[in-house]
Amino acid sequence: MEYISTRGMSLPTTSAGAIRQGMAPDGGLYVPVSIPAWSGPDSLIPASYQERAAWLLAKFLADYTPGEIASSVAAAYSKEKFPATVAPVRTVTSSIHVLELWHGPTSAFKDMALQLLPHLLRYAVAKGEEGQRTLILVATSGDTGKAALEGFRDVPATEIVVFYPARGVSPMQQWQMVTQEGGNVHVVAVEGNFDDAQRGVKALFASRDFNEVLRNRGWQSSSANSINWGRLLPQLVYYFSAYTDLLAREVIKPGEAVDIVVPTGNFGNILAAFYARLMGLPVHKLVCAANANNVLVGFLRRGVYDRNRPFVKTLSPSMDILVSSNVERLLFELSCRDSKSVAAWMESLGAKGAYDASSLREELTDIFWADWAGDDETLQTISRVYREHGYLLDPHTAVAWSVYEKYVAAHGSSCPAILVSTASPFKFNRSVALALLGEEKIQGKDEFELLDLLAQHTGWSVPGPLRDLQDKTVRHKMVCSPADMGKTVLSLLD
Ligand SMILES: *Cc1c(COP(=O)(O)O)cnc(C)c1O
Repeated sequence: MEYISTRGMSLPTTSAGAIRQGMAPDGGLYVPVSIPAWSGPDSLIPASYQERAAWLLAKFLADYTPGEIASSVAAAYSKEKFPATVAPVRTVTSSIHVLELWHGPTSAFKDMALQLLPHLLRYAVAKGEEGQRTLILVATSGDTGKAALEGFRDVPATEIVVFYPARGVSPMQQWQMVTQEGGNVHVVAVEGNFDDAQRGVKALFASRDFNEVLRNRGWQSSSANSINWGRLLPQLVYYFSAYTDLLAREVIKPGEAVDIVVPTGNFGNILAAFYARLMGLPVHKLVCAANANNVLVGFLRRGVYDRNRPFVKTLSPSMDILVSSNVERLLFELSCRDSKSVAAWMESLGAKGAYDASSLREELTDIFWADWAGDDETLQTISRVYREHGYLLDPHTAVAWSVYEKYVAAHGSSCPAILVSTASPFKFNRSVALALLGEEKIQGKDEFELLDLLAQHTGWSVPGPLRDLQDKTVRHKMVCSPADMGKTVLSLLD
């Protein structure tokens, strides 16, 4: 299957080509030339998560052999990486089934894709020009950075540079990144917010000069952000897997529709659900949950995207984003693949920070329902859900829960909901402890004391990789301005 650019000005490429490049040369994003159909769940019911992943990947990665796909998914979702379970569905209320995506090495859902991407990329590079080395550039709102570092550490002929917003990530997220081990890993704080870091990385991918310097030195740059199709594709798997699990438990009947509720930032996770729906997964509504940076809410309700507004720091930092890259793919699909319009909207976004796609309003509101929750609602939800159900939510998942309640209040609930849980509550220990115990009990406590406090209070156990962080030393202290990101990368490669 070939891959084409959403902006229509690049030549089609293979799946390996799309994964190698990350982004199309015309500044667009790669999408498959056609969307394969899902032909029913029966064979997936007894299958393991690895088998379910191999089944889905084979539909999209025509130039990979079955052996390459099988070895990639076996390595990515091994017992070593996901000791307990890969993507379990917990039924918390009669209608809410929580899909827990944080059982990997960094305790956030980014592992689901970033444990697999390095393997897919390694084969993609082997299928390309000989002797090329790969430079992975990442902008992170907190969780992608750590997951990418873990996924790519010590991968041969590969260097990885992660840019995170200085003061824009949680203490635990920052600690996870600056203590990262590995001979090929670099972590740099950018003086700015996530959008500054993401814009900087995208500008590097688009810069002829920068890429020519890289090529002359034998490097090809690629992305581990969800602009890379190889990052998005693994995220389709868990939607099919969750649906199949509910079928197997007879919570739903074959063909019965579900609502899917996703805490959203860069629009990667919910876009994966959208593609699963395009393939035929029975989804009634995709419920998009945002925090106070709620640009997406206006967009999904009216089709008008406007990022001209203050950037707010919230308790769900991985969703503190005003420019959600993957909306570009959605525009492409909903406009019946009209790349001219997509290019015009994206140009307007670059020039004015806004675009008007209200011609798609009906399509958008037909598929999506969107709302947001503020920090107070987030904390109240964590505390109430724990009290009523004994279930612990991290702040991002609590945003989703709160927005789902608003959805039910507005529409009533006719289908079971798959609510996506994107992080372990321990990863955002301070906010969760604040919600459960109040300010007084957490004052003056450091990150690791808070982990213990939370474990004692709830009886839940601290994920091993978070507990072990305590003994690590800081290895990465670099800081740069958004304007100097290119120079910084080149100096790190020397
Ligand atoms: C990345 C992230 C999100 C947002 O996901 P997108 O794919 O960027 O929309 C939500 N919650 C957590 C914990 C994350 O790490």
